[in-house]
Amino acid sequence: MACDANAGRLTAPGGVIYEDDLWRVEHALSPVLLCGWLIVKPRRHVEHLADLTLDEAAALGPLVQRLCGALQRALAAQRVYVCSFGELVNHVHFYVLPRYADMPRDGLEVLRLMFGAEAPFACGDDAAAAAAEKVRAALS
Ligand SMILES: [Zn+2]
Repeated sequence: MACDANAGRLTAPGGVIYEDDLWRVEHALSPVLLCGWLIVKPRRHVEHLADLTLDEAAALGPLVQRLCGALQRALAAQRVYVCSFGELVNHVHFYVLPRYADMPRDGLEVLRLMFGAEAPFACGDDAAAAAAEKVRAALS
């Protein structure tokens, strides 16, 4: 799935937020789409964090820092969660998840709601594209 997106075989509703030689950032390729929910993944196929090159690892921190700032400025996120599980998609990826004022102030509860079947924070493709545009503008 991550490789399909990198190769252009899948397209995120909000489009690509950012990319450079090492990393790509886009909206989640998921029906449980939250506006502004970002996925950060290496351009290269990498299955484990330990397999990142030193250049990939060195670029990751500044990129995540910029994304968190952009989500705060562009979408008024109160908190930004960053996590990586890698259980279902065998390509390293990080979730960059804004927590808004109207969401529970409990990280585990927010994760349960985001990844649960009810998807109370889901938004449509148009809203996702609008959120993506704001985040791209905040990054530039
Ligand atoms: Zn891959």
